[in-house]
Amino acid sequence: MPDASHAAPRHLDVAIVGGGLAGLYAIHRLRKMGLKVRAYEQGSGIGGTWFWNRYPGARCDVESLEYSYSFDEQLQQDWKWPERYGTQPEILRYINHVADRFDLRRDVQLNTRIRSAVFDDKANEWTLTTKDGETIKARYCIMAAGNLSTPRVPDFKGIHDFKGKWYHTGLWPHEGVDFTGLRVGVIGTGSSGVQMIPIIAQQAKQLTVFQRTANFSLPARNGPMTPDREGPHKAEYAQRRAAAMETPFAIGGHPKPTKKTLEVPPEERARIYEEKWKQGGSISYLYSFTDLLVSKEANDTASEFARDKIRSIVKDKRTAELLAPKDHPIGTKRLCLDTNYYETYNRPNVALVDVRSDPIKELTPKGLRLESGAEYEFDAICFATGFDAMTGALNEIDIRTSGGAVLRKHWEGGPLTYLGLMVAGFPNMFIVTGPGSPSVKTQMIASIEQHVDWIADAIDHLGKHQLDRIEPTPRAEHDWVAHVNAVADSTLYPLANSWYVGANIPGKPRVFMPYVGGFDRYKKRCDEIAATGYEGFTLSQHTGVTA
Ligand code: NAP
Repeated sequence: MPDASHAAPRHLDVAIVGGGLAGLYAIHRLRKMGLKVRAYEQGSGIGGTWFWNRYPGARCDVESLEYSYSFDEQLQQDWKWPERYGTQPEILRYINHVADRFDLRRDVQLNTRIRSAVFDDKANEWTLTTKDGETIKARYCIMAAGNLSTPRVPDFKGIHDFKGKWYHTGLWPHEGVDFTGLRVGVIGTGSSGVQMIPIIAQQAKQLTVFQRTANFSLPARNGPMTPDREGPHKAEYAQRRAAAMETPFAIGGHPKPTKKTLEVPPEERARIYEEKWKQGGSISYLYSFTDLLVSKEANDTASEFARDKIRSIVKDKRTAELLAPKDHPIGTKRLCLDTNYYETYNRPNVALVDVRSDPIKELTPKGLRLESGAEYEFDAICFATGFDAMTGALNEIDIRTSGGAVLRKHWEGGPLTYLGLMVAGFPNMFIVTGPGSPSVKTQMIASIEQHVDWIADAIDHLGKHQLDRIEPTPRAEHDWVAHVNAVADSTLYPLANSWYVGANIPGKPRVFMPYVGGFDRYKKRCDEIAATGYEGFTLSQHTGVTA
């Protein structure tokens, strides 16, 4: 590998960190404005989440016709999704198609990890340094590094002593893994675990699932894309996209509920839940009534219906009770979507172990041992143990300013942002779907497009007014964070120990990170702020100004 540390720095208008769905769209959007841009991607290929998460069964839980770019009508008309929900290989194929179609690859630098980003107050520019020592100077920096891109393997004692193979869902080998005839352990029952468990169970000789917290999972009801689903959707794609913007999750096609749960008699309620269960998908279920995420009493009815479904599917009573979540209201942790997840526990080669009552103590050369001393032997262990969500990717980069601000310090007590888009004290650094924005609570590509468009418009505004610096005021940041928390506190979300509050990472400050006020409300606020001259931001001219 050539030593890049002595080469002259590359000069850009905008440096982008990340070559996933956000980074790629940012290249497209900003290049159209005549800006010199380049994205830096640590992977050996583009695609972000969909490049790394290649575990068996990996699939999006938002329908393909929704979970796709909307910025080009011909693209959305041309692309044919083979199934209702896209698989990881299909989505990665789509992303690669988009990169080729819009000639994006020439501005992506692969195998490049950004180690630090330092803002020079005098020069009014960011200097990014890669792991290999290359430096990049840019007026603006866009962090498009993802919300769930820092895989987390618990630091179990003995992990390096295990003689079998171990894998993390977010770092899955490209060549795939054949579990045929093997004794396999899966740790973790979030969205990733719930998707991979039914597939591994079909291959493995014996599958043992270690569950700490039961999660609610709803049937996806996946299937081939049918002409009667695709045809009408594509016939009015633009209107459907616009309608999605008016919803809290940025997902269209689901009539908004009109009634409160307890206004409806129990038999009618059960009929509605049953219909939604048959229909599949999480939005449809959460849209049964208006108050499922704000009233515990209301939520109890939806939670109990789902628990009863689990009890009716899983034959072994003890296993069914373990799988039926009781520690959080349905929807307050990310809902899983599955195909045959609960049914899998009826297979003779699958066992569920409760590691809430008897935690994993350590890995051993042959497998793992619980606190009680119980031992399990495996040929392979799969960690479906999640990510350092929302802040992990940015905290891995040493982000600071010449004035002495350090992002890791600024975020010591939890992430502080204005609109999830910018951080006070860090001028000209934008975040795509950062903490404090609706991001993970929405159809992510819609949120990505909304953020990149807002950022592009802001940069355009600065240019048109001979300005070259934007940063939020500390006051605006403070008020926004307070608003994000107040909105979360008015819902049931804080009742769950989830990665939304950093609960999955020991020692991580417990702060509610996504904005749960709804995509529609959020977008309106962002648009108003831009239209009124960027209220809450300081815009100024710096380059060439001497003190
Ligand atoms: P996750 O939801 O954070 O789940 C991690 C699992 O590992 C949890 O069950 C957790 O238990 C368990 N775990 C962690 N440390 C453990 C330990 N020391 N001992 C035992 N169990 C432990 O992670 P994920 O499943 O990868 O999903 C993360 C997010 O990615 C999802 O919520 C979703 O937003 C996204 N995702 C989406 C899709 C999709 O679109 N279909 C698929 C996969 C992922 P606790 O709950 O007790 O901490």
